[in-house]
Amino acid sequence: MMVRKAERAIAERLKPVAGEDAQLEASFLLRANGFHSPYQELSETDAKALDPLIERRLTGEPLPYILGEWEFYGLPFYVDARVLIPRPDTERVVELALKTLTPERNAVLDLCCGSGCIGIALAVCGGAKVTASDVSADALEMTERNARRNGVSIETVRSDFLDGIDGMYDLIVCNPPYLSEADMQNRDAALRFEPELALCGGQDGLYFYHRLAEEYRRVLKPGGTLLTEIGMTQMDGVLALFPGAECVKDYGDRPRVVVVHNDD
Ligand code: GLN
Repeated sequence: MMVRKAERAIAERLKPVAGEDAQLEASFLLRANGFHSPYQELSETDAKALDPLIERRLTGEPLPYILGEWEFYGLPFYVDARVLIPRPDTERVVELALKTLTPERNAVLDLCCGSGCIGIALAVCGGAKVTASDVSADALEMTERNARRNGVSIETVRSDFLDGIDGMYDLIVCNPPYLSEADMQNRDAALRFEPELALCGGQDGLYFYHRLAEEYRRVLKPGGTLLTEIGMTQMDGVLALFPGAECVKDYGDRPRVVVVHNDD
């Protein structure tokens, strides 16, 4: 069977979980398994080998975990269930961050780094000197693998939020856990495969923004910038914690990144 035909058959099977992305997911699955050309021949045995992956997807497990890697800001990242899957929404943080970097002001802290996607994108695309921190040792291990994969060297620090950070940075980027307990209760099936530690931001989802507001000045240089992703209903709650801050929208016109300038 030709790959293009197999792709249609796989897409049909994936429809119940992948919906309108079924075709795209089928194509990703085939490519990740070495079937790049639509006109390549796929044997019965080749097709059978994909079955367990399709079965996993049909349980609702997100495709990035099944493939073991995912693209973010055009770069490849290893992922598994110990880290949050990099989201296109977060690419907005990278774009805004890149605009703040200059050769003299390029010391970056990626706080709550997870897979390392934000900090590594800034190192690769902006020449940033990056420290990545997370409370999870698994996340730091993944960040280190991803830094190697993308050919950059970054420092990793295990830290409960800012507690173990003692450097001073020109830019802090942070995608903290920000789902509220109610969001956690009602979360989609796909989110149930992702680490709770990376998702839950306490009772109202704002726990880490409170900590950030209390502590960021200790690690942000004068004239520096703090960029933090927020959930789409959190703008008012977060802006109230950072007087003078502004909020930037994502491409879907939702307020998703809070920008804080340290003018002190
Ligand atoms: N972006 C994730 C979501 O859509 C949440 C990530 C986070 O808590 N930082 O649910």
